[in-house]
Amino acid sequence: MANPPALFNVIAGRTVDGVRTFVRTSPVDGSVVAEVHEASRSVVDAAVRAAGDALAGPWGRTRPAGRSALLRQVARLLEERADEFVAAEVRDTGKPLALARSLDVARASANFDHGADFLYGAGNQDSYSTETADGRRALNYAYRKPVGVVAVIVPWNLPLLLLTWKVAPALAAGNTVVVKPSEFTPSSATLLAEVIADAGIPDGVYNVVHGLGPASAGEFLTTHPGVDAITFTGESATGSAIMAAAAPNLTPVSFELGGKNAALVFADTDLERAVSGTARSVFTNAGQVCLCTERVYVERPIFDEFVAGLAEQAADLVAGRPDDPRTSLGPLISREHREKVQSYCDIAVKEGATVHSGGGPVSFGDALDGGAYFAPTIWTGLDQHAQVTTEEVFGPVCHVAPFDTEDEAVALANDTAYGLAATVWTGDVDRAHRVAPRLDVGLAWVNSWWLRDLRSPFGGNGRSGVGREGGHAAVDFYSRPTNVCIEIHRS
Ligand code: NAD
Repeated sequence: MANPPALFNVIAGRTVDGVRTFVRTSPVDGSVVAEVHEASRSVVDAAVRAAGDALAGPWGRTRPAGRSALLRQVARLLEERADEFVAAEVRDTGKPLALARSLDVARASANFDHGADFLYGAGNQDSYSTETADGRRALNYAYRKPVGVVAVIVPWNLPLLLLTWKVAPALAAGNTVVVKPSEFTPSSATLLAEVIADAGIPDGVYNVVHGLGPASAGEFLTTHPGVDAITFTGESATGSAIMAAAAPNLTPVSFELGGKNAALVFADTDLERAVSGTARSVFTNAGQVCLCTERVYVERPIFDEFVAGLAEQAADLVAGRPDDPRTSLGPLISREHREKVQSYCDIAVKEGATVHSGGGPVSFGDALDGGAYFAPTIWTGLDQHAQVTTEEVFGPVCHVAPFDTEDEAVALANDTAYGLAATVWTGDVDRAHRVAPRLDVGLAWVNSWWLRDLRSPFGGNGRSGVGREGGHAAVDFYSRPTNVCIEIHRS
């Protein structure tokens, strides 16, 4: 086989060697797909310096309209080179090609268009005509400025989508970024550097460092005093480590973390729609979406029918090669992650679960057995506080439990340390409006799942996150206001 592509760090428009290299293997068949240059502390230092220097250069003098035009150009170039981005995502993640095209890459260009539109249109939100008790008058307004150098640290499940969700508003607000993609998915962030340069964004505005978390690029970046803000998506435990790393410098953070999301299925729902919607919310991207449902609560009269329907949908999923149009289930990200998912399945059985489908790896009898495929898995019969029903598994798995009343359903859904997303399936409009706001989550869907308006705030409560991004929340995180107060003297 030809040598796998080498992926370098990108600093101020130049490719930079790492201190050593590591390989990325495909979760489809275990073959080596890339050799990645791991950034040392001094490489990370150079990246942060380049980002700081870029703020002082022409980029620092761009106006919002100019940045908006540049971001639109990034979106167009992403569309033109969509095939390359799809190939990069598929190489690293093994996800079905059609999913990478319609979800990951399409959302990446939408993120840049949204950044271009929204931040340009946001204007100054805080403007007040002031009259004091002693008769003085003033005009107060907020003048928004970039925060500075933003560290962007992202996970492997939706590499380009989650990266651009942060990079686009960060750049729209006039910041510069140093991004650290996951060690499992280094390709698309590296390719994006080419598109950003081709769009005419100056060198040093977008820099990429590769590596792992602790004692590697992730830690070097989050502890760096030259970083003015950290935006992170990943596991809750990593969020805690990054918050501790950021504390000495008091660096502001925005965290999008794990979930243990609930679906509430009421007996008044359109059952077919609820079953297929729940199958989508459990199994999309092999369950490796932070918003995926892992806890399903079903009103008792329809419980058996619902479980049977969901198991049928699971049986219809086809595991296979990403480029096979029949494939609807890709692999997990790695063999390591598959072992973790398997260990939860073993625990579920020990805890007394009934297994309605899956419970172990998919076997093919060919090269795909060297990959990390896992069968869609449905459990029932576990306690609300079993390990598998409280901890995030992050695979194509869910537990289904019955409930009897609306209050009980809400209490069960909220009985978790996480608080990212939930879905309510009901045919009763009053119930929908009663239940959704009672759910302690950042995002509550009714009769749908993963339907997003990029202008709305996104984030989680509890162990699911700190802060919000998207729309005005992104304006708040990626810029800082200076309150200008002008006294208006009486004539
Ligand atoms: P992870 O926390 O292991 O890694 C995420 C990133 O952080 C990687 O780039 C990694 O190298 C880096 N990292 C790890 N330790 C670090 C440290 N000590 N300092 C600095 N950087 C460090 O997460 P993952 O396994 O890549 O992703 C899966 C997790 O992400 C799941 O928990 C999932 O729910 C969560 N997630 C959340 C959202 C959301 O929007 N809330 C979206 C997608 C994924």
